[in-house]
Amino acid sequence: MEKALIEQRFHDIEENYKFIKNNIAEAAIKSGRNPDDVRFMGVTKTVDSLYINHALELGVDLIGENRVQEYLGKRDELKLDGVEKHLIGHLQTNKVRQIVGEVDMIDGVDSVKIAKEIGKVSEKKGIVSEILLEINIGEEDSKFGFDSSSMLETVHEISEINGIHINGLMTIPPICDNEGEIRKFFMNMYAIFLDIKAKKLDNVSMDILSMGMSGDYTEAILEGANMVRVGSSLFGKRVY
Ligand SMILES: *Cc1c(COP(=O)(O)O)cnc(C)c1O
Repeated sequence: MEKALIEQRFHDIEENYKFIKNNIAEAAIKSGRNPDDVRFMGVTKTVDSLYINHALELGVDLIGENRVQEYLGKRDELKLDGVEKHLIGHLQTNKVRQIVGEVDMIDGVDSVKIAKEIGKVSEKKGIVSEILLEINIGEEDSKFGFDSSSMLETVHEISEINGIHINGLMTIPPICDNEGEIRKFFMNMYAIFLDIKAKKLDNVSMDILSMGMSGDYTEAILEGANMVRVGSSLFGKRVY
């Protein structure tokens, strides 16, 4: 690709990153926290390694990839020293073997079955996998994730599986027409998060509440998110 275009995109990513970090800081302060209390995840799916590396140079220290194959395919080109890697997409049972031990966290654990598989493979590899549980907060048929109504029992059940450790929750809320509507979903997530945290279950540390993407990360932070996952607002529109 032409050098000028690459330079332009580097510049855009830089400006986007500053803008987002500033918004995150403002939202954190508004919600009574420090800017550093909210972690920024750069979502790198479909993005060329060249641009991901640029973001890493700018200081992004946490990335999320959706697909096992895509991540394993491009990670050798990435400057990942000191960078935390999460798998954020829906994970299929037959991919568990390939990803366990290759990322720092598996964020989208959305069934007891997949949790058991991750536990089984982790034990075989002699490690403990860090995971987040995904809640389908809008109860949408089209989305993966646990039912919020039975979350306490679910966390209980999954916490007893060997080879995994629950670090918190994540969600992708429904598409909403207005800010009030989406904030209600985030608020409900925060309530569930606090509820589970208060139970102080063995093998469960409710440290991470991952919610908010390009279109709604400030609302998510205002409602208690402490990790936001931003792709297109950082790297530009995705080209599949
Ligand atoms: C793609 C993706 C994101 C980022 O989406 P943007 O709207 O581009 O910020 C966040 N979380 C998950 C699970 C994703 O798949």
